[in-house]
Amino acid sequence: MEVPRRTLFIDGEWRAPVLGNRIDVINPSSGEIIGDIPAATAEDVELAVVAAQRAFSRNRGRDWAAAPGAIRAKYLRAIAAKVTEKKSKLARLEAIDCGKPLDEAAWDMDDVAGCFEYYADLAEGLDAKGKVPISLPLDTFKSHVVKEPIGVVGLITPWNYPLLLATWKVAPALAAGCTAILKPSELTSVTCLELGAICQEVGLPPGVLNIVTGLGPEAGAPLASHPHVDKIAFTGSTATGTRIMTVAAQMVKPVSLELGGKSPIVIFEDVDLDKAAEWTIFGCFWTNGQICSATSRLIVHESIAAEFLERLVRWTQNIRISDPLEEGCRLGPVVSAGQYKKILKFISTAKSEGATILSGGGRPKHLKKGYFLEPTIITDVSTSMQIWREEVFGPVLCVKTFKTEEEAIELANDTHYGLGAAVISNDLDRCDRLTQAFRCGIVWVNCSQPCFCQAPWGGNKRSGFGRELGEWGLENYLTVKQVTRYI
Ligand code: NAD
Repeated sequence: MEVPRRTLFIDGEWRAPVLGNRIDVINPSSGEIIGDIPAATAEDVELAVVAAQRAFSRNRGRDWAAAPGAIRAKYLRAIAAKVTEKKSKLARLEAIDCGKPLDEAAWDMDDVAGCFEYYADLAEGLDAKGKVPISLPLDTFKSHVVKEPIGVVGLITPWNYPLLLATWKVAPALAAGCTAILKPSELTSVTCLELGAICQEVGLPPGVLNIVTGLGPEAGAPLASHPHVDKIAFTGSTATGTRIMTVAAQMVKPVSLELGGKSPIVIFEDVDLDKAAEWTIFGCFWTNGQICSATSRLIVHESIAAEFLERLVRWTQNIRISDPLEEGCRLGPVVSAGQYKKILKFISTAKSEGATILSGGGRPKHLKKGYFLEPTIITDVSTSMQIWREEVFGPVLCVKTFKTEEEAIELANDTHYGLGAAVISNDLDRCDRLTQAFRCGIVWVNCSQPCFCQAPWGGNKRSGFGRELGEWGLENYLTVKQVTRYI
C-alpha cells in the first residue's frame, strides 16, 4: 500500500514546507522506507498560527469561535462519517506506519469516529448552557458566567495511537470553538495528514485545523513557544512535557500534560487465575506495551505467584507475533529502530542488575527483520532497579510478590508516576480499599486498560495534569468569563 505524499495542511490548503525538507516514513515491520512526510520549521508554524488566529477571530467574518456549537457539531459529525467511510484505508496506513495489528488499528478508527461524534454532542450542549447566573449578596448588581473557547491551541501528540490521540485533542478543541495547530509525532504522522484531507473534503473552514508535521525541536518547540498560541495540550514523554512546561511558564501559557507512566497491576490470591492472567497479558502487552498506562509492574500474592507466572509464560509464548497486516496478528513490531534498541537496553540492564529474564528477552526467531520483540517477563526484581522505576514503553513486564495488602499498596505506589493502577480480586471491599489508596488518575478493578471517550483520562505526579476525554476534555479548551452589571 502506498503512503500518500502530502504537504502541510495550513489554512485549508496543502503547502510545501518553506524550507522544503521531508522526513522518511519507515515501516517498522521491515525497516524499509515507504514514503515521506513534510518537515515543518518555525516559518511554517508561523503561517499555521496566523491562519488559526484568523479562523478564530470574531472580527473578520471567519468566526469559528462565535459560531453556535450546533454548527461546529455538524463539521465534527461530518469528519466522523468520513473516518468511518475511510476506515479500512486509514487502518492499513496506521498499521504500516506504527506497526499496530490491523484489527487494533481498525478499532482505533472506530474510536476516532466515536470521539468526534461524542464531542459533536458536547458542542451542541454548550449552546444550551449559555449564560449561567450567579446569585450575589447585593441586588444592585447582576452577574453571570459564560464559557468561551480559550483561543488558538497547539496540540502536540506521540506515536503510539497516532490518529486516536490526535483526535482526543482535536475533537474537544474544535467543539469548544478553539482553532488548532496539530503537531503529530514525526515517527507516525501519516494518518494525521489524512485527517487534513478529510477536513478539506467536509469543507471545514480554512485555518480551523492546521496540521504541521516535523521534528519536535524544529516544529513542536516553535509551536510551544509561539506568543499567539494560547494553550498547549501535550501528550508524550515526561522529559518533553517538562521542557514544554518550562517554555510555557515564561509566558504564563496554560498547558495540559499527558505524560509517561509505570502503572501497577495487583493480583490477590483469591482470583480466577486464567481471568487474571488474561487481564495481565492485555494490560501489559496490548499495542506491544506502548501504552502510557500499560500495567507493566505485576505485583502478585506470593502464594499464587509460581502458578500464575507459569500461566503467563505459556500465554506469552502463544501470542502470535507477525507483520501487522497478517491475519491473526496479535503483536506487531515496536515503532522504530530507536525504540527497539532502547527496550533491549532496558532488558540487558535488568539482567546486569541481577534480575531474571523468565521469558522472552529478544527477537522472535521466526522474524529476521523489522523491530520485533518477544513479550518479556522479568522476575527477581528489586525496587531500586531501573526496570522497576523507569517507563520502558515496550512489551516488558516486571514482577514482584507481596504477602500483605499493605505491602501491595506500598509497592503499587512506589513510583514517581501516577497514571493508572489495576487491582484484581474477588473481594470487592478490598478492591475499594486499594482504589482509595492508589495515587493515580485512573483505577481499573478486575480489568486493565479499558478506555471510554466519556470518562476522564490523565494522571498525577510525573504523569502530568489536566484530564482529556469526557466533559473534562472539553473544559481543557474553555475559559470562564464573569460578567457583572450594575443596575
Ligand atoms: P516524545 O515526548 O518524544 O514526543 C511527543 C511529541 O512531542 C512528538 O510530537 C514530538 O515531536 C514532540 N516534541 C519533542 N520534542 C519537543 C520539543 N522540544 N518541543 C515541543 N514538542 C516536542 O514522546 P513519544 O516518544 O512520542 O511518546 C511516548 C511517550 O508518550 C511515553 O512516555 C508515553 O507514556 C507518553 N504517552 C502518554 C499518554 C497519556 O495519556 N498520558 C498517552 C500516550 C503516550
